[in-house]
Amino acid sequence: MRFLFLILTFTFLQTCSQTHQPVKSSIMENSTTKNNPYFSRTDRTKLTIPNEEWKKILDPELYAVAREAATERPHTGKFNVFDERGEYYCAVCGNHLFRSDAKFASTCGWPSFFEADKEGVIYKRDTSYGMERIEVLCKRCNSHLGHVFNDGPKPTGVRFCMNSVSLDFVGDSKEK
Ligand SMILES: [Zn+2]
Repeated sequence: MRFLFLILTFTFLQTCSQTHQPVKSSIMENSTTKNNPYFSRTDRTKLTIPNEEWKKILDPELYAVAREAATERPHTGKFNVFDERGEYYCAVCGNHLFRSDAKFASTCGWPSFFEADKEGVIYKRDTSYGMERIEVLCKRCNSHLGHVFNDGPKPTGVRFCMNSVSLDFVGDSKEK
């Protein structure tokens, strides 16, 4: 009986210490970030990884959006209707992109932000599909994230229309 009690106590303590581990990546780790040696939420060194390499690492859905500029179907992404407080990172490389304070409820079907981390994104003219648009890419890994439009709310008036699959979210509570 005493032995059983000790085992239970030990198991409990172990569970406890695991919950309080400072390594948050193990908690937040998903199929996107595991087995990805380039993923880092702190390293902002630019990456020039060929697509053949990314294809081996990334989930097919993320690869299609991030490396081939595909667009996920509207109203299907996990961050479209989502308002938790926290930080958004590039799902490919971990680069910081947005703060939840800049996210707003948009009816377009994709997660929308009125402001991006200036060190997080770069812009490129996109004339595909007969449209004149501005493509938004990750500044660190050059992956496609979405587009930016001039119909956003105040204070910036712009709308970053992003693909959920391209985003990696870390909630404020999990940061601590
Ligand atoms: Zn990136």
